[in-house]
Amino acid sequence: MSRAGKCHCGQVQWTVELPDESVSMMLCHCGACKAMSSSGYSQNQMVPKSAFRYTKGEELISSYTYTSDNGGLPVHCYFCSICSCHPYHQLEVLGPDTIVVKTVHVDGGLAFVPAVEIFGVCRQPWQKEIGLTFDNMPPA
Ligand SMILES: [Zn+2]
Ligand SMILES: [Zn+2]
Repeated sequence: MSRAGKCHCGQVQWTVELPDESVSMMLCHCGACKAMSSSGYSQNQMVPKSAFRYTKGEELISSYTYTSDNGGLPVHCYFCSICSCHPYHQLEVLGPDTIVVKTVHVDGGLAFVPAVEIFGVCRQPWQKEIGLTFDNMPPA
């Protein structure tokens, strides 16, 4: 389903074709997601890069790259340089044609119920398990 997304300040907007969230919405409890979302987890869906298109303000996007402590490949994080919201991340481990959309910013995204949780070992003790949980990354 095609969804419109926007950052908090509204200067960057996009559309993205998302798969059925009831089978693909994924919470990530890792430390990087906590830091970058200023929250206990991030809400994500994996899509082909071709499913995502900026409709406004692409020139305001900045990027940040980190390499996780887990010995993984670099992760490229794209965000609005004004308000710091992240439309998506690109994980090199997934290849160049897949992105991880931050679904909290798309229309209706706040209502998505997680199907899967990753980095469950980092889940805050006060959070209940909701989706199928993997300790770290799911097996490929
Ligand atoms: Zn913004
Ligand atoms: Zn994460």
